[in-house]
Amino acid sequence: MDNLQVIESVKAMQSHCERLRLAGKKISFVPTMGYFHEGHLSLMKEARRTADHVVVSIYVNPTQFGPKEDFSKYPRDFDRDAAMAKSVGVDVIFFPPNSEMYPEGYQTYVNVEKVTQNLCGLSRPGHFRGVTTVCCKLFNIVKPHSAVFGRKDYQQLAAIRRMVADLNMDLEIVGMPTFREPDGLAMSSRNVYLNKEERASALTLVGSLKMAQKLYAEGERNAVKIIRQAEKLITSAPFTAIDYIKICDAATLEDVLEIKGEAVMALAVKVGKTRLIDNSVLGDKLEA
Ligand code: AMP
Repeated sequence: MDNLQVIESVKAMQSHCERLRLAGKKISFVPTMGYFHEGHLSLMKEARRTADHVVVSIYVNPTQFGPKEDFSKYPRDFDRDAAMAKSVGVDVIFFPPNSEMYPEGYQTYVNVEKVTQNLCGLSRPGHFRGVTTVCCKLFNIVKPHSAVFGRKDYQQLAAIRRMVADLNMDLEIVGMPTFREPDGLAMSSRNVYLNKEERASALTLVGSLKMAQKLYAEGERNAVKIIRQAEKLITSAPFTAIDYIKICDAATLEDVLEIKGEAVMALAVKVGKTRLIDNSVLGDKLEA
């Protein structure tokens, strides 16, 4: 498919997808905020591999940003994104303006309760309410058979899975591995904010995950001990300020003290002014 279509209105997107469904086509959907990197492309390739029709949304969703966060300066480059999407065979980019997504009088929100409380839920109040609301809306607009998300945003994926199960949404949620730079830094649109020195310090995020994996492989099951080592490594680098480093139950995302079942180490660190997140399920190979 080399004809990439751009759709900006909700109604046009809904009728486009309705026609596809009536024709028996399988639609896969990748919601994004744009400013693509290889991580985004890996999700689009998975969608391409598994469906007849691939829709990608580019929408910097205001309701998931706090008042002091980077909504207005979040990087945007539609032409570059469109060229990248086209290169991996995306069929449609849904690119709505705010007036389409949140018209005057808007007042309905989706709130997933427990799994959004810990981790980023503590430092970004309202963030996941914005994420689940916009994803619910996008699912109603695109009517996909499947939607592809990255495990880099582990808690987001957990919240979406929970919403889809709890509200009986009729689509499959697919989780994909975290795509990393050759030196291990998790790809993120926000990495463009980092200067050279900050970029070097940012490597302590993946470094601490690797260290945790090593300690875990050697038999360490005390979460606090692992977290202390990670803190030491990260604070030893300049420009870093830890928001959280936690080891949580991989399903409930509640803190664990003693690692027994499947656990995920998740961290959020400010490097200069840029807040970065990363995670790894203990016992898993660090995703590449
Ligand atoms: P964003 O544009 O940051 O909202 O991300 C859109 C989708 O891409 C989400 O499902 C993210 O989890 C996913 N994503 C972001 N970074 C990566 C990465 N490095 N590897 C894999 N998926 C990613």
